[in-house]
Amino acid sequence: MAKVVHDLTDAQWSALVDAWGGCAYCGVKAGRLQKDCMLPVSRGGRYTIMNVVPTCGTCNASKWNAEVTGWMRRRKLDERAFLMRQVEIAKAVAARER
Ligand SMILES: [Zn+2]
Repeated sequence: MAKVVHDLTDAQWSALVDAWGGCAYCGVKAGRLQKDCMLPVSRGGRYTIMNVVPTCGTCNASKWNAEVTGWMRRRKLDERAFLMRQVEIAKAVAARER
């Protein structure tokens, strides 16, 4: 089995929280945001800049081990808008580090 690499730094996490300005899934701004792996760790996901988004406690608890796109569809959230924004933000945060 390949070694699992979790390389999200605290600075990257803060940058992600700032860039999203709220829950990545539902947009709620209240409360403390949690790290959610879009691809759950149980399915091979990792805590990396491309896989982690800030979410509210409600979304994090609801999504749990689900794969993100199927879960968003079931919740009637805008999956396409989310995925486009996620790529933009992850790239922007990654680019800052160079
Ligand atoms: Zn949410």
